[in-house]
Order: sequence, then structure tokens, then C-alpha cells
Amino acid sequence: MSRARGISYQRRQEPKPSRYDIGMIVRPDLRSGRFWLLTLGLAATYWGLVESTGRLFIAYGLFPAPFWPAATVAMVGIWYFGGAAWLGIFLGATLANWFYPPVSPPFWVAATIAAGSLAGAIAANRILSPRFGDPAPFERTRHLVRFLIGAGLCLPAIAATVGTAAIALAFGTPAEGLVNAWLKWTIADSAGALCFSPILMLMLRPGPDRDVVRITTETFLAGLVTTLLAVWVYWFADVDTYAVHALPYLLALPLAWAALKFDLRVTATILLIKETVALFGTLEGVGALNATGDPYPIGTLALILVATNVSVFVVNVLVTELRRKQKSLSASNKRLEAQVHERTLKLAASEARYRSYFNASLVGLAEIAPDGQWVQVNNHLRFMLGYLPQELERMTCFDITHPDDRATQAERFNLMRAGKLEAYLLELRLVRKNGLAIQVMFSARAARTLDGALDYVFVVIDDISQRKAMEEELQRKATLDYLTGLANRRHFTDLANKEIGRAERNGSAISFLMFDVDRFKSINDSYGHPVGDTVLENLADHCRDSLRGFDIIGRVGGEEFAVLLPDTQLDGALEIAERLRRSVAGLAMKGAGDVSLPPVTISIGVAMLHPGEKLEQLFSRADAALYRAKQGGRNRVEAAPEITQTAP
Ligand code: GH3
Ligand code: MG
Ligand code: MG
Repeated sequence: MSRARGISYQRRQEPKPSRYDIGMIVRPDLRSGRFWLLTLGLAATYWGLVESTGRLFIAYGLFPAPFWPAATVAMVGIWYFGGAAWLGIFLGATLANWFYPPVSPPFWVAATIAAGSLAGAIAANRILSPRFGDPAPFERTRHLVRFLIGAGLCLPAIAATVGTAAIALAFGTPAEGLVNAWLKWTIADSAGALCFSPILMLMLRPGPDRDVVRITTETFLAGLVTTLLAVWVYWFADVDTYAVHALPYLLALPLAWAALKFDLRVTATILLIKETVALFGTLEGVGALNATGDPYPIGTLALILVATNVSVFVVNVLVTELRRKQKSLSASNKRLEAQVHERTLKLAASEARYRSYFNASLVGLAEIAPDGQWVQVNNHLRFMLGYLPQELERMTCFDITHPDDRATQAERFNLMRAGKLEAYLLELRLVRKNGLAIQVMFSARAARTLDGALDYVFVVIDDISQRKAMEEELQRKATLDYLTGLANRRHFTDLANKEIGRAERNGSAISFLMFDVDRFKSINDSYGHPVGDTVLENLADHCRDSLRGFDIIGRVGGEEFAVLLPDTQLDGALEIAERLRRSVAGLAMKGAGDVSLPPVTISIGVAMLHPGEKLEQLFSRADAALYRAKQGGRNRVEAAPEITQTAP
């Protein structure tokens, strides 16, 4: 595309006033040949139409003309060409009136009448056009109403007022009276404007709306019936009975048919055929209107034409509008249906996808009703619990919760139901159908209705039994001594510290033993390390058996052990230590295969916790006592000395 064309295209994009907009005054371009051509054309058409119809009516002895088709030229000329049409119409009308047969009024009268006709047409177009844009008129009821007011009332009223005034001024009041003359003029102009302008405007209407009129069998039939009926009513019917008055109304039937069924252009064309037949028949002095003995049948016909056209147009536009609305409604219905269909398909696909995720998942997934009943359970959860779907359907989530965890579960669930909790995560046990408990991570999330009530609870259940077992194993390994199964040093320290804290809060006593196997090196040396290990195991078992359940025993070194004795004073501790020492000395140890092992003895240091004393201090005091027991010859119990507090 060339640059120049691009620019001109842009210019065309600028808002351009509609050529039907009468508000826009198109200044006649006097140097433009086209303007003069238009002026000439319009003037000739106007004048020619008046000459021919005028002469026609005069031939039938009718003066002034009972029907003024030139009003159509004024109406449509202004509508189509805007301001550029004024001069042509004014000239045409002036000439037409000046040379109007059989009298030629003075020029100023002709020009005044022409100005009245022009003013009427401009006013009618002003009422019609400004707000409608290009496709107007006859698109909507309001277009038609404006057209009828403009072309059917305003145009004839203005033209008739100016015209009768000019005539009255020039020739005095006409014999029939001013009002009568004015009425005749108005009806003639109204019939003229209403008969031809709609169809002309529809033909000239620009834009995509100018679709081809389809001549169907039905339109042809309607046209034929109307024509035949019109010919009969306005040509042949001369029955001299009262019924003849009603005959013109018979035509209402085919016209209603056309108005209800067809495009306005087809309808207007049928109207036109009927009008022509009626006009010539009535002028010829035959047909129903003449048969009634009407003194001025052509005037009655003009009235009938105005009334018929107005009703046919109104009915047609109303029906068309209704049909358009129904069409757009059914189109939007179809669109909606298509959308719903598409959504349904998408929904079904997403539902299927959700199903497959739900069932293929390797964690348990379920939906639980607000009363705890299972609603949906995925395959994995069924497998995890060992129940059949129909069995689960009869159960609640509480039924399979371990009795010990049921209360916690119910408490959270109720909070959720009460709207006070949106989600919870619990580690709890569920009982399988075979009665075995599994440890699970139970996570629940509330799904609520719009009013906030609990709709259902979505749960994810992860079997963590294996992980739990592994954790426990790790825990055991981290806290217990691998050889004896007693608490290792670190775990013993933790337990002892807790116990000390508790004793301090309660003000209860705590004592502490530390013992070491005597000359253990020689057992290793003489029997070997494995035998030494077995001895240590035997020793640990013995301690566990002979000490109280709440005493805390730990292996704190190679063959060194510590015992924390809750609620025990020093005396009691010494007694326990002594009993232990003695029982160890008398212990018959057994190895693998019931092999007897060499006896061992232990030396024990005993200390009682002082208020405010830390575990390390207690340790070292007991250790010191143990050292003294070794020093004192072994296989003995020594108490740590009391901490002496300097008296004042
Ligand atoms: P004492 O009466 O002074 O305690 O003499 P002892 O020989 O027992 O001397 P000490 O307590 O210093 O020796 C500890 C020995 O215990 C050293 C080591 O070989 C042995 N031992 C430490 N842990 C183990 C163990 O787990 N298994 C075996 N079989 N022997 C151990
Ligand atoms: Mg030792
Ligand atoms: Mg030792």
C-alpha cells in the first residue's frame, strides 16, 4: 500500500457527520457541477411530478390536487442529499406552483408555497434524522414513530399552513373556507409523503442492511390477492347497498397478512399496487367509493390511504422488531446452550481426571460427611483399612479411630463442625478390619457451603506405621546402650536431669550410685573380650531385676554404671548399694550355652543430691566415693562426704 493511500485512509477514519444529519448545513458548492446537476434533477423531478399528477387530476376535474406525490421528493431529497437538496426542491416547487394548471399564481405566491413545502420537509427530516445515523429509518418502532410524526403530520401541516396563508393573502379566503382548504391540503401532502417516501427511503438505504428482497411464492400470492381484491373493490364493486361502505376495509385482510409476514419493502410495494389501483378506479368514477355516493371520493381515498399506510407500517415495524428480539434471544439461547454443553464436557473431563488422581493416589483420600460418615473413600484407603466399600459406607470415621485417640479426633471434628476450625493435622491410630492398629497422619480440611455450614470434610490419611517403627528404632539406638540395653550416658543424663528438676520442685530426696567392676581388665585378659561383654550384660540384667522400677540405670562408661534413686535418702541409698554389692558378688553368671562365668564384684560410690546441686557435681562426688571404695580394697560401698557448710 502506498503512503498516499495510507494517509487518505487515515483521513477517512476521522468522525464524519452523516449525510442524513440535517443539523449539518452543507453549504452548496456553487462551483460544483454535481451540485447543479442535483439541483436540476430534483427541480425537474418535483416539477415533472406535479405537472403530471396535477394534469391527471385536472383531467378528472379535480382542483386543487387531492393527492400530492411531490411531497415524497421533498421528504426523500432532504433525507438523502441533506442541505445540498434545498435549492433543487425549492426551485422545483416554485416552478410547479407558478405554472400549476389551470391557474398560475403570482411568482411570490408560488415561491412562498414552495418555501412552505421545503420548510415542512426540513422540519420532518429534523424530527427523523439527527439521532438515527445511517441505517434509519424503519429499523425500530421509535424510528417509525418519528417518521410518521415528521412525514405524516409535520411536513403536511407546515406546507398547508404556509400554502393556504399565501393563497388567502393573494386571492382572499377560498370559497370552501380556510379550515377546509387547510385540511384538504394537509391530507393531500400527508398521503403524498406517506405513500412513496417509505419505499424510496428503504430502497436508498445504504449499508449492509440493503439485503435483497426475496420474492417468495407467498409474497407473490399476497400481492396477487391484494391486487385482485383492490381491482374488485375499487373498480368493479358498484353494489348500491349499505355494504359497499365496508368494502374498502376488506383490503385490510391481505394487507394485514403482508404487514405481519413480510419485509417492509415487500409490504410497501403491495400497498403501492393497491394505492394505484384504488386511485385510478376512484378517479374513473367506478368502484366502492363512487358507489357510496360520496361527493368527494378521492378525498376519502386519500384519507383511507393515510390511515392504511400508517397502520400497516406500524404493525410491520412492531412485528419485525419483535421477531428480531426473538431471533437474538434464540441466538443467545443457542450460544448459552453451546456454552453449557462445552462446560459440561470440560467438567466431565475434569471430573474423570479428579477420579483418576483420587484413586491412583498412594495416600488415603476421603470425603467425610458432617456426621462423620464416610462419603467417598479412595482405593488406597480401603486397602489401608482392609474394609470393603459397602462396609465403610455404614461406618463413621470415629468407628475406625483407635479408642485411645477417639476423643481427640471427635474434639477436633466438632470444632470444625462448629465453624471454629478449618483444618487439623493429627497423628493417631486407626484400627484395621483385622483388628491391628496402624499409625497414621490424619489431615482434615473443611469444605463449607456458601452460608458457612460444614458441607464435607476432605481428609488425607498417610500410613506412617513403618516410619514410626523406624523412628522408634532410631530413638532406641540413640538413647540405649547397644550391649546392655540400659540408658546410654547421654540419655541417662537427660533422664537424671529431669528427675532432679522434679525432685527440686517437690522437695523430695534423690540419691545416686556409681559402680565399677573390680579388676575387669583381668577378666578380659583371662577369658577374652566376648566373655567380658557377657558379664556386662548379666550385670545389667541383674541390676534391672533387683532395683526398683522407677530407678534410672545407665551404662556411663566401659564397665561403669550409674543409678539414680528417686525419693531416696542417703541411708536408703547406702542400703540399696550394699544389697546390690552383695547380690552381685553372689551372682552366678551364665554365658551362651549356660556356660558358667567367673564371679565379679563391684565397688560403689554413693551420694545424695544437695539442694541446688547440679548433676555433674553429684557425679563427681559419687565418683570420688567410688575411688575411695577402690582404694579401700574394692567390693565395697563408700558414701560421698556431706558438703560441709561453714557455720557462722
Ligand atoms: P579396677 O578394679 O581398678 O576397676 O580394675 P579394672 O581392671 O576394672 O580397671 P579399669 O576399670 O580401669 O579397666 C576397665 C577395663 O574394662 C578396660 C577395658 O578393657 C574393659 N572394658 C571396658 N569396656 C569394655 C567392654 O565393653 N567389654 C569388655 N569386654 N571389656 C571392656
Ligand atoms: Mg572402670
Ligand atoms: Mg573396673
